[in-house]
Amino acid sequence: MAVPKRKTTKSRRNMRRAHHALSAASYQECPNCGERKRPHHVCGACGHYDSREVVASKSTAA
Ligand SMILES: [Zn+2]
Repeated sequence: MAVPKRKTTKSRRNMRRAHHALSAASYQECPNCGERKRPHHVCGACGHYDSREVVASKSTAA
């Protein structure tokens, strides 16, 4: 098994982890109902995607 030759210092470890930060999720306004939704995701409020209803919502259940 390959074994590291030297101890990873706190500095090296923290430099490696400098890129591990999480970024806040982005949101866009739903073109149908105006609710905030994730891009490329079905709107959770009205069930629309690409300007048509793909998931039946409670308000427009027929
Ligand atoms: Zn919507």
